[in-house]
Amino acid sequence: MLFRFFRDLRLDDHASLAAAAEHGEILPVLVLDEALREHISRSPRRAAFYCEAVAALDEALRARGTQLIVRRGPLVTTLLALAKDTGSSTVVWGASYDARAMEVERDLQSRLEERGLRALLVHDSSAIPPEETAMEKSSAGEGYRALVPYVEKWRALEVGSFEAPLFMRFASDAPLSEPLPAPEEFGSSQMQLGATPEKASQQLAHFLGVDALQYSVAANVPADDRTSHLSAHLSMGTIAARTVVRETKRRIDDPFLLTEEKASLKRYLRALAQRDFFLQLMWFNPHIAKEPLQEKMRTFPFAKSHPALDAWKAGRTGFPIVDAGIRQLHATGWMHPRVRSIAASFLCFDLGVDWKVGLAEWDRHFIEDDPALSTGNWQWIAGVGADLAAYPRIYNPTKQARRFDAQGIYVRRYIPELANRFNVVQPRGGHAALELPLFGADTYPEPVVDHEKAARDFLARYNSWTAIDRGASARQSNP
Ligand SMILES: Cc1cc2nc3c(=O)[nH]c(=O)nc-3n(C[C@H](O)[C@H](O)[C@H](O)COP(=O)(O)OP(=O)(O)OC[C@H]3O[C@@H](n4cnc5c(N)ncnc54)[C@H](O)[C@@H]3O)c2cc1C
Repeated sequence: MLFRFFRDLRLDDHASLAAAAEHGEILPVLVLDEALREHISRSPRRAAFYCEAVAALDEALRARGTQLIVRRGPLVTTLLALAKDTGSSTVVWGASYDARAMEVERDLQSRLEERGLRALLVHDSSAIPPEETAMEKSSAGEGYRALVPYVEKWRALEVGSFEAPLFMRFASDAPLSEPLPAPEEFGSSQMQLGATPEKASQQLAHFLGVDALQYSVAANVPADDRTSHLSAHLSMGTIAARTVVRETKRRIDDPFLLTEEKASLKRYLRALAQRDFFLQLMWFNPHIAKEPLQEKMRTFPFAKSHPALDAWKAGRTGFPIVDAGIRQLHATGWMHPRVRSIAASFLCFDLGVDWKVGLAEWDRHFIEDDPALSTGNWQWIAGVGADLAAYPRIYNPTKQARRFDAQGIYVRRYIPELANRFNVVQPRGGHAALELPLFGADTYPEPVVDHEKAARDFLARYNSWTAIDRGASARQSNP
């Protein structure tokens, strides 16, 4: 039986691998097809992380007397050929939540079945599989489109466990493998990013021991760099979301915790539920990869560009908190969650640029590779997705900086030009009386837009657009 690894690079607490084990000896395979190559080549850090995680997986398999069989080529034909060569009658893999991969996997399933082979696709990436929450809905098969009822349902469901897979048997006479993927193959280079299941577990243990108890603050205060930083591990499967949820629930049960510490842990649990929410949203609505979830916003005229788009991409908008976020992303392959919202809002509303442009730009830098999560979040921020707010939430970057980085600690960390400045919360020129001593003649740019005006202009366009839409629906319901 062939087991295909993809974004699930571990052996522990692995739902699809556990399902595979029920069908006999496992031949572990990784197919580097064009789509996977494209995804990981987009961001050099992602490529390095992926290759490090694959090497760790191969090592773990070798410790069990087998090895990872790597093949380069189209997914379907490569797996068909391998199944034939090894006499395998079953192919098992973990479901993807990425519209393009979902389509390829559907094709894989039917091509395998056409040849009389068994194809088994198992949900592994989410803590609770999409169908399990959907089953509880009256309109089962559609999934949830709103976060709040989803989280309520999610909290009540039991998280499965596939820990300690001692019963797994791996084939010892595996065919020869091609070389493991190396970062250079994807235009990147070797970096030690700690992309192993051991590191992920240590990171989780440390987080739950200390930082998670202050998560409510850390999730908002970018200088306080103490969120879990597990996104890349969850994305590449070096840790299971189930493990993280279970361990968090265990921690909540500690009777010696303070009320506010429990509240922090519950908030963290909600973040994990939000991850599952966006995975199921893509699973049931793969069209959102291309168009907004909200029908009325599908033709909203977001711009494809703006004279300040390159400044936004480079972290030179003149709004320190926005620029610090973009520069953190460039420097580390990760950005603090609060700043992601501020910087994404700036693109969509201050510049009026399409969320897809922002998503594609950040995809070139993030380590994590989560089309469902990036799409869901970008649409949410742009006011075209699952957020049910009546109006788009336009973040004021200066007020956000005053509230969440009042001392400018985060801004100074990522914008060296501002490191020795007195007040870095205001954009240059934003506060006439303080302007001169604050910035002087430095290289940090003037703000590229007047935020108040840009926000008003956007809202005016939004209001007239939704008024047209309301008119159209009224005409439709009352022709
Ligand atoms: C515009 C925008 C784009 C985003 N793109 C991504 C992305 O490509 N991949 C990604 O994993 N997250 C994305 N997020 C969500 C969130 O910002 C990151 O998950 C978080 O910053 C990762 O850091 P962490 O692991 O320390 O998170 P923590 O705050 O420690 O949260 C733990 C885990 O919960 C999940 N989570 C937390 N917040 C969210 C959320 N809003 N939506 C879905 N899952 C969440 C993630 O898996 C995260 O690793 C995006 C948010 C915005 C506003």
